[in-house]
Amino acid sequence: MKYFIQTYGCQMNKSDSERIAGMLKSLGYKKASSECKADLVVLNTCVVRQSAENRVYGKLKNLEKLKVQNPKLKVAVIGCMASLYSEKIKDKADLVSSIEELPKLSQLLKNIEYLNPESDYLHIQPSYGSKFHAYVPIMTGCNNFCSYCVVPYARGKERSRPAKEIIKEVTNLIKKGYKAITLVGQNVNSYGHNLDKEINFAQLLKKVNNIASDFWVWFVTSHPKDMSDELIKAIAEYEKVCPYVHLPVQSGNNVILKAMNRGYTREHYVHLVEKIRKEIPEVALSTDIIVGFPGETKKQFQDTVNLFKKVKFDMAYIAQYSPRPKTAAYKLKDNVSPGEKKKREKILTDILKETALEHNKKLVEKIVEILVETGKRGSTLMGKTKSLKTVKFESEKHLLGQIVKVKITQAMSWGLKGKYVK
Ligand code: SAH
Ligand code: SF4
Repeated sequence: MKYFIQTYGCQMNKSDSERIAGMLKSLGYKKASSECKADLVVLNTCVVRQSAENRVYGKLKNLEKLKVQNPKLKVAVIGCMASLYSEKIKDKADLVSSIEELPKLSQLLKNIEYLNPESDYLHIQPSYGSKFHAYVPIMTGCNNFCSYCVVPYARGKERSRPAKEIIKEVTNLIKKGYKAITLVGQNVNSYGHNLDKEINFAQLLKKVNNIASDFWVWFVTSHPKDMSDELIKAIAEYEKVCPYVHLPVQSGNNVILKAMNRGYTREHYVHLVEKIRKEIPEVALSTDIIVGFPGETKKQFQDTVNLFKKVKFDMAYIAQYSPRPKTAAYKLKDNVSPGEKKKREKILTDILKETALEHNKKLVEKIVEILVETGKRGSTLMGKTKSLKTVKFESEKHLLGQIVKVKITQAMSWGLKGKYVK
């Protein structure tokens, strides 16, 4: 039996897919190279925006056609869409399961008592998608209830994984030769709040940093309201923790930030950025923005524009507001037109192109370390710097999965070109 997993959405979902793959492998399934060659297609879904949902509905339609050619094909819908809309999807798929119910899925598939259905899905041994860079979940769910966001409804309450489990998973990966670890959670800055043994995220980073061997550590996502001075110092001090902070601001206007229930002001955010840049001068900063939140006026949007020009992000994920059922903002009128949302998105993208280029240009002529993530020997290789910038370069050598040195020769807005040094 062969499986094929299609993942939508965030890094948490990518990480969850590795646990789904791990479970399927333990049941004897093998990975298929495409959905046409699979006996089981798993869609690991996202509900953050309507567009993500629509893609899944489209895919389900296509799979129906595939089922005509291959009547034995089974389709499973897993993840956030399954937890929110199981009723709506149940007729469109053979199996529908939230990620928390993953242990139960093993029984549904094989009809055997393989895993304890009550067990924590994070205990499932993952089958990592990469042999050198792994996503390690440190928490699931979210308690923040930002007014536009469906994540707390789809993933439930915030729950941190005990530090021991995380350290064990990371240690095993490092023993296997992994070079980079991304710690993932919806709000990693509030890590540890629900655990019996008191620990915060900065202390967890210390434990990870203490694991012997050379490797890099990234983490997502930080919440500006919870980012402590202790954490900023930890990123600056621990040599394995990379100088990259993803710090979603969402809006630069205080009235909108309040309506979004973000729990901080524009001034707090700007001050936080100043502190981070002072402590970690080489840091790269990225953010998330929502344009066209209900009631966002042109003037309020201008505050986001000004913030963008002031902060000068290295990267930003700019989204047009999408009303999500169950959320507080769903009751508000989605009154910014699609055309205006698109216009606002473009204004920010144009500024980002400039600021990203400005940051990237600083790297030209510098020799930087990169982790080579794609490319075959003799072709164009692609890697990531510690500050998560993409670098393309040529080499005849087999360098996949290695940390190598590259001299940067050219800067673009969305990446860099370099020359292999060693
Ligand atoms: N936990 C992270 C982000 C989770 S969702 C955080 O707090 O920042 C990822 C991003 O999707 C959000 O940062 C936000 O910018 C975007 N997003 C969430 N809900 C949205 C909605 N209803 N419409 C448009 N974008 C949304
Ligand atoms: Fe959603 Fe806010 Fe939680 Fe992020 S912090 S997952 S945006 S509710």
